[in-house]
Amino acid sequence: MRKKIVAGNWKMNMDYEEGLSLFSEVVNMVHDEVTGKQHVVVCSPFIHLHSLAQLAKGNARVSVGAQNAHQAESGAFTGEISAKMIRSTGAEYVILGHSERRQYFGETNELLAKKVDTALQNSLNPIFCIGETLHEREANRHFTIIETQLAEGLFHLDAEHFGQIVIAYEPVWAIGTGVTATSAQAQEIHIFIRKQIAGQYGQEVADNTTILYGGSCNPKNAGDLFAQADIDGGLIGGASLKSRDFVDIVKTFN
Ligand code: PEP
Repeated sequence: MRKKIVAGNWKMNMDYEEGLSLFSEVVNMVHDEVTGKQHVVVCSPFIHLHSLAQLAKGNARVSVGAQNAHQAESGAFTGEISAKMIRSTGAEYVILGHSERRQYFGETNELLAKKVDTALQNSLNPIFCIGETLHEREANRHFTIIETQLAEGLFHLDAEHFGQIVIAYEPVWAIGTGVTATSAQAQEIHIFIRKQIAGQYGQEVADNTTILYGGSCNPKNAGDLFAQADIDGGLIGGASLKSRDFVDIVKTFN
């Protein structure tokens, strides 16, 4: 059975104290209210990672992740953070290939393939984001775009390493816009993603891969989305900044 995961992406929000207090609220609410087997991952800015990982230590339900990592092991890359450094904080996940990184920092599939390798070598589980822009969807290119992002970003991995990847389908037109993909639109793409994985690694690996939906997910629409057979949870941006909303989304799986 594949894991159900609800991951929060705080992006560049929350100063140190705000982050600690938001995370503590989430941990307490998850402890008091979550009854299912779903797993929670909070992806914070780097400054919070160590403290949050300390708060999550021994907590089987909640993990901590980063939002980016450099592709090199170490070296003269002023201002960058390595996968090893992230792992040393106690964080277990890292978001790679978020559309904001692709768009504003020019991250390509080729670069992301290297980041994936370095993250895995340092025992971090990548949450690998893929998704088409509005322009690409309107030109009916969404399937091709997703196929390419998977092939170039992930399919160089062997099956064992691929087993550590969480995929997040995030249509770029739905991120931070308030426009959510319909559950049918999301499910259609999730089926397609699983088919691509089955073609590369076989049906068993495909069935064991957690595929999240991301894009304006909130407590109102999460129920419909997460009820789809191939949607195994969500990557939540805006709504992860409010503990009540975030945990209500997590509770969709109760
Ligand atoms: C995201 O940034 O990954 C995201 C899904 O954002 P939002 O939920 O705000 O659309």
